[in-house]
Amino acid sequence: MRILIVEDEYALADVLKATLQRENYTVDVEFDGESGLYQGLTGIYDIILLDVMLPKMNGFRVLEELRREKIGSHIVMLTARAELDDKVTGLDYGADDYLTKPFEMKELLARLRAVSRRKGEIAEVSVLTVGDMELNVKNCELSCVGTGKTMKLAAKEFQLTEYFMRNPGRVLTREQIAEKIWGYDSEAEYNNVEVYISFIRKKMNFIGVSRCAVKAIRGVGYIMESIAQ
Ligand code: CA
Repeated sequence: MRILIVEDEYALADVLKATLQRENYTVDVEFDGESGLYQGLTGIYDIILLDVMLPKMNGFRVLEELRREKIGSHIVMLTARAELDDKVTGLDYGADDYLTKPFEMKELLARLRAVSRRKGEIAEVSVLTVGDMELNVKNCELSCVGTGKTMKLAAKEFQLTEYFMRNPGRVLTREQIAEKIWGYDSEAEYNNVEVYISFIRKKMNFIGVSRCAVKAIRGVGYIMESIAQ
């Protein structure tokens, strides 16, 4: 589970980060709304802990932007007691949960477990489709609707294909891909991205996919698109 903390109180951010890391979450921290939004838009986080009063851009605006961009991360707002009235605003914009400061770490962890369980329930779509290609997320099988051919994907191929198919028509940078699939970005992981995309293309080719393609966007990354016929 990857968590993004957006919180401008350094002491609280530190405690949150240390606590969550002890629970084996992978944690990134941003200290203002703009950087929080920028990181959140990568779509790589399972959960975003979002403070309301933030420098540069407040938490509700960040939340609104993330939802407008169809970012599916679960978002837990951190509000001061005085801001409780704002709850309604946040719910309208699509927050998943609230924690009122000050809160116990135990309570936070319990809420995160609840959110992740809910996430599991929501993720019940078991077949993703782009063009004439389908991915069964339960058994990791890639198939072509037109030819009926099917192929099993290896773990990383599957994760990469799933990431693309959940973001069709959206450019994914090689940094985003490396972070999502390998956990961090570095030159070595960029090479992996290239290699694995070539694996996926070969398999798509092999099963006869003709209305879905992974295209390279020079110097930026890749995009999976359905192709009209
Ligand atoms: Ca704050």
